[in-house]
Amino acid sequence: MRQIAENLLQVQHRIRAACSSAGRNPEEITLVAVSKGQPVEVIREAYAAGQRAFGENYAQELAAKAAALADLPLEWHFTGHLQRNKAKAVAPLVQCVETIDAIETAKQLAQKRTAPLDILIQVKIANEATKSGVSPAELPALAEALRTLEGIQLRGLMCLPPYDPDPSRSRPAFHQLAELLKGLNSRLPPSQKLCDLSMGMSHDFEIAIDEGATIVRIGTALFGERA
Ligand SMILES: *Cc1c(COP(=O)(O)O)cnc(C)c1O
Repeated sequence: MRQIAENLLQVQHRIRAACSSAGRNPEEITLVAVSKGQPVEVIREAYAAGQRAFGENYAQELAAKAAALADLPLEWHFTGHLQRNKAKAVAPLVQCVETIDAIETAKQLAQKRTAPLDILIQVKIANEATKSGVSPAELPALAEALRTLEGIQLRGLMCLPPYDPDPSRSRPAFHQLAELLKGLNSRLPPSQKLCDLSMGMSHDFEIAIDEGATIVRIGTALFGERA
């Protein structure tokens, strides 16, 4: 268990080092600990070591963990594909849904909120194996529709490039996501600019930070291999 506190320190150190080489402020980076497949005791251990934001990929697993950990002030991010019929159950539990790729899902989420819910649009960069995410061509229209939807607050973009053992292969996707955010922002008034780029996982987050990530989603480097 002490291992998790040690891993967390190490990841935080790597984030600071990546920021330092990129000339960025580490305060700009939110570390989301992706705890899917991990038991609640492990989340408690990470919390005790100072971690606050956690990511879950499955609605049922999230609901069970949020209930079991209701005594802790955790910030939950939904990082898996969100089925439309699960949106209403997820909405009251999370601070952020990172994987929006359809206006209908966002409308379902918005209905169940009193305070606006942060959302990110998942973008499918070229060659991604996953079926989730909008194409870069579809992005502007979805972003515009989401910006005017009450109950949610569009914060930025997320991507999940295919796993490649060579992390430098993720760089073009991260770069493209940052460019897409710039493109959206070029059409928005300064007060409405989108700030967040969720990109980078255990094996490639340093490169994501170099390309402008503000949210890194890290599982294995904190918790070890998933069962
Ligand atoms: C599982 C998962 C992660 C964490 O991956 P690691 O390689 O274990 O760090 C990050 N983002 C998403 C969307 C995931 O599904």
